Amino acid sequence: MTDVKPNRTDGPRRISILGSTGSIGCSTIDLIERDPQAYRVEALTANRNVEALAEQARRFDARFVAVADPEKYNDLKAAMSGTDAEIAAGPGSIVEAAARGADWVMAGIVGAAGLEHNAIFQVFEFDRRETIEKIILTASGGPFRTMGIEEMRKVTPAQAVAHPNWDMGAKISVDSATMMNKGLELIEAYYLFGLPEDRIDILVHPQSIIHSMVAYVDGSVLAQLGSPDMRTPISYTLAWPQRMAAPSARLDLGKIATLTFEAPDSERFPALSLAREALKTGGSAPTILNASNEVAVAGFLGGKLGFLDIPRVVADTLEKMPVTVIGSVEDVLAVDAEARNVAGDIMSDVRLQV
Ligand code: NDP
Repeated sequence: MTDVKPNRTDGPRRISILGSTGSIGCSTIDLIERDPQAYRVEALTANRNVEALAEQARRFDARFVAVADPEKYNDLKAAMSGTDAEIAAGPGSIVEAAARGADWVMAGIVGAAGLEHNAIFQVFEFDRRETIEKIILTASGGPFRTMGIEEMRKVTPAQAVAHPNWDMGAKISVDSATMMNKGLELIEAYYLFGLPEDRIDILVHPQSIIHSMVAYVDGSVLAQLGSPDMRTPISYTLAWPQRMAAPSARLDLGKIATLTFEAPDSERFPALSLAREALKTGGSAPTILNASNEVAVAGFLGGKLGFLDIPRVVADTLEKMPVTVIGSVEDVLAVDAEARNVAGDIMSDVRLQV
């Protein structure tokens, strides 16, 4: 392994991890632990998992430690007693953690922007955007890629979160099973990279070795490859613009031998078309899509909805709500709240039909 250390000459990089107890958060912690001199932990946050949060905060001597659930304040305070870290609780404390001075913030909270786009970032020539023809987002197809629709109707949350390639939190695992994760990434890519929607393709690639591709006007396609381990893209951002050694399994393409690709099936995975339509519609539609999906996924995980009801609730919510112009964060929050209410009502009706 190479011994590239990030920013050694500038002193330790000050970092904050929002959602440090989750899958992405723990992968980030794992990387920092491998080079503790290079990082100084400013803030760590979780939702309710006080035990894991306090253990991390003590280990890294975090300056600010917060839980989103206000009822967990006393538990956190007790778990952090004897340290001089600042303790806080409530949703506002997460914002405070994000706003504290840090060189680098990991947004590892469910619902926050995802990371997979790191693969595009690595092969996207920002300075020569006009030479880019297309972005191709690859999708594993999730655990139900080859399953018939009748069988999909009956799948359980345990089956949906058992992703074949990635070890992820429950919400994104279900999104991966419905393929809504690619729909959300399509929307993110549109805003992050500024390409029109019809120049962002989605391709199913079950081995999850190629994480994304960028096609150029001369016919070249640059791809980012790696074993399916989020520590690779996280390490890329942690050390950027340098690279640091990450412990991810090394690719042995000779052993893998075959990489396959297929077009997504929009009938069995309608979430993809819903997301594309929401992006084309614009305004409040992507916010409605995201909020109603979060509600429906929670409903499915809580045993209140069938798997195929998830995109149905999203479609009905989009249908029911007027599309409005979004001009501010307040507008987004208002639409998000309204969409959650509407989706909740629709979900109760769907429940009656199951
Ligand atoms: P997890 O469910 O594993 O972790 C979520 C983290 O957020 C936990 O620390 C959790 O705390 C905290 N959290 C949950 N709800 C709230 C809340 N309401 N307020 C504040 N904190 C909260 O998720 P992942 O790590 O899998 O995913 C995190 C993000 O990264 C998601 O946006 C996902 O889409 C994206 N992503 C993840 C990938 C992956 O491989 N895991 C790949 C690409 C993108 P607690 O432990 O207390 O519940």
